[in-house]
Amino acid sequence: MKAYTALLNKAIANSEGLSTSEVMALLTPPGLVAARRLWQTAHLLRLNATGKCVHLRAIIEFSNYCRQDCLYCGLRRSNNRVTRYRMTPEAIVEAAIEAHAVHKFGTFVLQSGEDPGYELKNLKWAVQEIKLATNAAITLSIGERSCGVYRALWEAGAGRFLLKFETSCGQIFRKLKPTTTLEQRLGCLGTLRSLDYQVGSGIILGLPGQDLESVANDLLLCRDEDYEMVSIGPFIPHPDTPLSSANIATNVCSTLTTIAVARLLVPYAHMPATTALGVIGQNDKWWKSKAPQLQDARSLALMAGANVLMLDVTPAKYRTSYSIYPGKAGADGDVITDSVWQAKKDLSTLGMTICPGRGDSPKQPWGRGNTDVKREDRMHVY
Ligand code: SF4
Repeated sequence: MKAYTALLNKAIANSEGLSTSEVMALLTPPGLVAARRLWQTAHLLRLNATGKCVHLRAIIEFSNYCRQDCLYCGLRRSNNRVTRYRMTPEAIVEAAIEAHAVHKFGTFVLQSGEDPGYELKNLKWAVQEIKLATNAAITLSIGERSCGVYRALWEAGAGRFLLKFETSCGQIFRKLKPTTTLEQRLGCLGTLRSLDYQVGSGIILGLPGQDLESVANDLLLCRDEDYEMVSIGPFIPHPDTPLSSANIATNVCSTLTTIAVARLLVPYAHMPATTALGVIGQNDKWWKSKAPQLQDARSLALMAGANVLMLDVTPAKYRTSYSIYPGKAGADGDVITDSVWQAKKDLSTLGMTICPGRGDSPKQPWGRGNTDVKREDRMHVY
């Protein structure tokens, strides 16, 4: 316990000096007392960096077509059991305006599979219209694109981009994402950074073949790239994929621990309490016995380093078809009003509220690591 506490202190004082083996040690606290100390430390860092409130992001999953063939994903192009849909640009804008009428979301996340079926001018139009109608920040999550496409969408007003690298292990990546490469993906992330996007990335925890060292290296990559958003979601096997019979190698406890270590390494990142965590939490008795007053395992993540909740505002008729993994929150077509109400209720149980405003990156204007670009200039652009 003493050694673990010393390591925690080192992480707080100088996370840039941590080695892979030290991060591995942080990921394996020796018992519940040490784990609790880790989670509390991460929570304090989160309070310090982003405050006690929680950012509520509205996500519109506007197309489930995908040209990639990731082995773990229900949207992979080889899955012919999924009903494909592609919302029109007008319907995307309409969904955002409708959601904004229910709650003044400060951010809309426009997410899709890697769908080449939209003309760039139409995507730009949707971004511009949503910005105009809601004054919200726009985060895009549309996969690997050319620099020209990223630039055009940034100029249209999308200030943020989410592209998870999923795993930094070349071998696992090659196996699970056979239609692209890790180099290509990291190259896209570098391009987004150079274009001044607020960049989000992250991993899937518990992928087949992943070990502790691999996860530690993933987190170190997040630290070194100093992403503005870091997402850590547990792997859940999808029945219509080649990984349907893979084991779920993570649980609520290990996911919380990984989120907390990520908070130590990237203290100013926005970090979602992922819907996938909520799903694995439904059958996890451990946390329910520890925190019977909570309804959702995501609430625990908000006490262990995470500070963002995503709310699905995709028109209900499409939600079941955006099946990246089974049991996804909101897939049963929750009414937006009810979801916002539930989020507020869950947060009030934690003594938290919804943050007002867009929730841009709280990183210092002078940046850090390789991001020491003129951040103060960007602040006015998004
Ligand atoms: S993970 Fe993303 S890129 Fe891969 S198949 Fe699914 S939607 Fe497509």
